[in-house]
Amino acid sequence: MTASSAPASSAQPSYKDTLNLLQTPFSMRANAKVREPEIQAFWAELQLYERLSQQNPGESFTLHDGPPYANGALHVGHALNKILKDIINKTALLQGKRARFIPGWDCHGLPIELKVLQGLSSSERAELTPVSLRKKAHAYALEQVEGQKSGFRRWGIWADWDQPYLTLQKSYEAAQIGVFGAMVLAGHIYRGLKPVHWSPSSRTALAEAELEYPDGHTSPSIYVAFPAVQLPEGLAAQLSAAGLNPELAIGEGGLAVAIWTTTPWTLPANLAVSVNERLDYAICAVSPRGESATPAASHLVVAAELRESLEASLGLELQPLLSVKGADLEGIVYRHPLLERTSAVVIGGDYITTEAGTGLVHTAPGHGVDDFNTGRKYNLPVLCPVDEAGNLTAEAGPFAGTNVLKDANPTIIEALEGTGLLLKQERYEHRYPYDWRTKKPTIFRATEQWFASVEGFRTAALEAIAQVEWLPASGRNRIEAMVSERGDWCISRQRTWGVPIPVFYHRETGEVLLNEATLSHIQGLIAEHGGDVWWERDEAGLLPPDYAAEAAQWRKGTDTMDVWFDSGSSWAGVLGGIAGGESRAPELHYPADLYLEGSDQHRGWFQSSLLTSVAVNGHAPYKRVLTHGFTLDEKGRKMSKSLGNVVDPAVLVEGGKNEKQEPAYGADVLRLWVSSVDYSADVPLGPGIVKQLADVYRKVRNTARYLLGNLHDFDPSQHAVPYAELPLLDQWMLQRTAALIDSVSADFERFEFYRFFQALQNFCVVDLSNVYLDIAKDRLYVSGAQELRRRSCQTVLALVVERLAGLIAPVLCHMAEDIWQNLPYAVAERSVFERGWPTAPSEWHQPALEQPMDRILELRALVNRQLESCRSGGQLGASLEAQVQLELTEGSEATAAALAWLESSAHPGVDNLADWLLVSALHQDRSTPAEVLAEASEAGITVRIAKADGEKCERCWHYETDIGTHAIHPTLCGRCVAVLS
Ligand SMILES: [Zn+2]
Repeated sequence: MTASSAPASSAQPSYKDTLNLLQTPFSMRANAKVREPEIQAFWAELQLYERLSQQNPGESFTLHDGPPYANGALHVGHALNKILKDIINKTALLQGKRARFIPGWDCHGLPIELKVLQGLSSSERAELTPVSLRKKAHAYALEQVEGQKSGFRRWGIWADWDQPYLTLQKSYEAAQIGVFGAMVLAGHIYRGLKPVHWSPSSRTALAEAELEYPDGHTSPSIYVAFPAVQLPEGLAAQLSAAGLNPELAIGEGGLAVAIWTTTPWTLPANLAVSVNERLDYAICAVSPRGESATPAASHLVVAAELRESLEASLGLELQPLLSVKGADLEGIVYRHPLLERTSAVVIGGDYITTEAGTGLVHTAPGHGVDDFNTGRKYNLPVLCPVDEAGNLTAEAGPFAGTNVLKDANPTIIEALEGTGLLLKQERYEHRYPYDWRTKKPTIFRATEQWFASVEGFRTAALEAIAQVEWLPASGRNRIEAMVSERGDWCISRQRTWGVPIPVFYHRETGEVLLNEATLSHIQGLIAEHGGDVWWERDEAGLLPPDYAAEAAQWRKGTDTMDVWFDSGSSWAGVLGGIAGGESRAPELHYPADLYLEGSDQHRGWFQSSLLTSVAVNGHAPYKRVLTHGFTLDEKGRKMSKSLGNVVDPAVLVEGGKNEKQEPAYGADVLRLWVSSVDYSADVPLGPGIVKQLADVYRKVRNTARYLLGNLHDFDPSQHAVPYAELPLLDQWMLQRTAALIDSVSADFERFEFYRFFQALQNFCVVDLSNVYLDIAKDRLYVSGAQELRRRSCQTVLALVVERLAGLIAPVLCHMAEDIWQNLPYAVAERSVFERGWPTAPSEWHQPALEQPMDRILELRALVNRQLESCRSGGQLGASLEAQVQLELTEGSEATAAALAWLESSAHPGVDNLADWLLVSALHQDRSTPAEVLAEASEAGITVRIAKADGEKCERCWHYETDIGTHAIHPTLCGRCVAVLS
């Protein structure tokens, strides 16, 4: 904006005071650190969010919040997520919908439990009981919630901040037990074995976070031949076709599959050999190399890519005879090298690579996660012949009694040597998990866990996915693939800080007690006392009265639920989507209109919520799912402390320690960033981007300031000019405003906020600053205050500024309100948010104005380029020093028509080409000026620039020939003299 370039004379007398200059308390500087909290306090005082979300006349709108984890400071990922939600909610509120937003937090789980444990001395730890640990974790989580909450509020997010949902609340936990119970009664919950990280030295399961990986760990690494005893028909046929005798498979010393393992102690648990169906495998003839011993097999199967390196490491010649796909190997039956049983080759998955080993993977479903998942596909038992202390059990046959950390490996390797099937052994250094407390190696060991049987409702889940609208549409493929392929969901954790799995085990038989009576009784107890009751009471205090007599027979379980089950039950705990459940507010409905989270939640919350909702109610908990990407730095790298590229939203909003280097940009700049990015992919943020955003923010702010500043003496009720009486330029400006409202409304409907960001800039910079306001300066400053050419312009400015405030309100909510509070005339609504979403009267829609206007703006650009060249050549100063001669010849018909349209205007005082070009005079006759400063021709249009005739009026800076003819004002033009009189 060029308010500062308004005419002002240094000579006497000064006519500056006779101009209508800007007046507004709306400051150029945002002063966001002070002003934004003031505006938020104003909203709170009005109870604005509460009233709009509960009393709006329109339909209710439920955007259900995915709960962030209640631990740690807010980062820009939180900002992207919550601000997107807030933009959508504020838009809905402006549209008259009842958009109630209940924010949530995920409060249970290991990270919080660990935080509490880390904060304790060893003596405090020793005295810790489950109940005291839970109390500390509860307090810690609440403290974290408060910290994050104040950050969210500072960003201007509207929500029920005083009544959030927390997964540790009694009512929430009770609803979650309700979901679990409904799944139990529907037959979707079962108990089974699953491998977990197990520490034989402390005899407990460990979570990932309790593991450490010391340098220098070595394991015994062995290559073993598993002799084939039967081939699938297809493979036999391929061998025959290649001229090989399929009989070579049968019997000792024939074909064998080669495996590699660094955990020989798991061999007694081997139940399969897995291959990658997409890899190429070679069937090789084997012969000794140099002095190596005669191999145990005549033919070996190995991954084709590893054949050469295996020749070297095994010391064998491996002559490739036939290449097959991994899929062709499925169904080979082999004999266990140590035990009297046979197993089969199965298809594993892409976890099988050619990075190491043989490309064929020894598979023990009781001792590895991949092994377990592959085993489930083939219905293999979860064999786990290892007890809590790491001792092999009777199921390990001759190896029973050996210990996995001591003698099991050497004993088994020795036995393999005896069979001749050991191809090679060596020490192998690799990353290996240790118990963080005992500093001893851990193992994978299958233990009894609780599962949700996804198999039982997979079809229903896939059908539910098809009913949901996924934005972007690729989200559907992601979650569909994940749900079709996933195994059963292990929902139990051996932790203390969580919702208990409300089950009892018979002390002698291990029988499980879990039925409608126990579930509803415990649900009632938790609703009243919270989950702590499970740890505070003994069995007699937890069992329903009918079981009181036999309480001594039962032992309560100690497992808690997977935190994904917690958050995945929020549709029940918050939206009331379960029989007998209550929603947190009457405006909420289930299924929700929208879930909106990062794209990793196809694996997380979107999925856990879908599974529980489908299992209980047969449909998804949401109608639409919108995802966003992740935040990266300006170079596309992850933000990390070590790279020093972390943008801390708190510093961006409130400023850093040194505000010169890290100024307080305010929440609106953070919000503007969120609106500016195409969040369907990962989004960048860094200091350069913040500076650009701050520039855009200032541009919008200064535009608004200019509009407000020119309205100080305008009252629409007295001065507004009816639409039909407006000049063409004003009608065009309103057409542009109507077009902006239409496009931004559509952008918000599609959640494409970056289009809004671009349209807003274009509107402020091009339509307003460069064109309308540039031309309007003369009308606003120089005209008499009451003149029609000024009042008509003010009419437009008032109409535009009110709508501009409404359009930016979902994103730049503080600035929008600041504009509203600084409107210099009375309006019915106390807040911009009470005005509702901007609309344009139908008469504003005049797209026919755009075509001639575009031609004239092209002509204007041509003239401006010539003026600019004169200025840079020192021949001209201000453009008002110039006159323009215009000549139209063949090819310029559209421009000629546009000029005729302009001349037809009923308001030549405004719709006047010389004024639009900001020059003192315009001629369209053939008489070329005496001294042409610049000349250009384009498409039949010739433009000549010359010095304007006459002298400069001291008040309006126009060059006029009547200056000096007025006795009282000898330095003014006739027009200015008329204004002053
Ligand atoms: Zn003048």
